[in-house]
Amino acid sequence: MKITSIEAKVCHARMRNWIFVKINTDQPGLWGWGEATLEWHTRAVVGAIEDISTLLVGEDPRRIEYLWQMMYRQHFWHGNGIVRGTAISGIDIALWDIAGKIHGVPCHELWGGRVRDYIRLYCHLGGGKMEDFYETGRNDAKRFGELAQEAVEDGFTAFKSMAVPETMPLEGLRPIRYAEACVGAMREAVGDDIDIMVDCHARPSPRMGMMFAKALEPFGLYFFEEPCWPETMEDIALIQRSVNTPIATGERLIGIHAFRELFEKRAASVIQPDITHCGGLSEVRRIAAMAEAYRVSVAPHNPQGPVSTAASIEFGFSAPSYIICESVHSDVPWRQDIVEEGFTVEKKGRIVKPNTRPGLGIEINEDEIRKHPFQQEVLQRSFYQDGSVGDW
Ligand SMILES: [Mg+2]
Repeated sequence: MKITSIEAKVCHARMRNWIFVKINTDQPGLWGWGEATLEWHTRAVVGAIEDISTLLVGEDPRRIEYLWQMMYRQHFWHGNGIVRGTAISGIDIALWDIAGKIHGVPCHELWGGRVRDYIRLYCHLGGGKMEDFYETGRNDAKRFGELAQEAVEDGFTAFKSMAVPETMPLEGLRPIRYAEACVGAMREAVGDDIDIMVDCHARPSPRMGMMFAKALEPFGLYFFEEPCWPETMEDIALIQRSVNTPIATGERLIGIHAFRELFEKRAASVIQPDITHCGGLSEVRRIAAMAEAYRVSVAPHNPQGPVSTAASIEFGFSAPSYIICESVHSDVPWRQDIVEEGFTVEKKGRIVKPNTRPGLGIEINEDEIRKHPFQQEVLQRSFYQDGSVGDW
């Protein structure tokens, strides 16, 4: 059995270009789907997939670990940068899809079988519409409360918001009070039975991140995400030690070595590996095994396209420390035209029942992909009041 070609198929989905990876084989009807979406890096990832395919075409797709080692090591530069890591991830996911199809079982059955009956999803306020998630008015706590209520009416028992505004490395009380007002409005709107998460997008400096974490501690967040840059892991660890709120991070980390540092520093209660960036299903399983040793929870980062979601779900049915999965459901109205999924989502509670089809259990409609060719992603550039560059 041989890999005959690896194709990257770009599908413009408003905020992102979804990059689907299709691995074709010499067996009639046998191919695999992966995803390597990386916003604002679409051309680079497509090129990286082309570079890597020079290593893989002609190889046996069943030798997943052998091929992973090749991809990571055999072009001299290790595959732990974001572009190469994402390309490797997309290919690795597609190889696991093929493996499941060869054996006629869902991927989670290849990894020791189901460890749970269902997976809980959480949404972004506004359901993935970037305007609602990223552009809620600066002083509009009431709007946060309304969106929170909508998420619950939509069946979700957990949601995430961007209630921490962009701040300069040091600012006074104003942004702190703003975050308190927004989170307070959400808590009041949905009560104590719903889990609320706040994503800082690593915007704050370490000290501002600490101040936000302390201010929001009384609201009982399910987790508080990326309070400062992952480059300052010591400071994330300091915040984790300073509040009861579980700190989450990891969506920008690639590979086991980056996660090893996170674990060794006891920096988080929740890790958020992105299966389309961290090294694919092969690497996320190693990362999750490390998380087991530290009793750290796993909640994958998954704001991208439908293959990423299918991979996140298959992985979740096999990983004991997995607690919840990020989901977007209204980023583009034609999402379900692109994919037919093997898993089912119950609206009440937004819980996912397992896929029983082989591999990732998905069918991708290539004609639909062709309707949405590459377009430059909308730039999301942030500048502070004085004109200096900020983090989005
Ligand atoms: Mg995040």
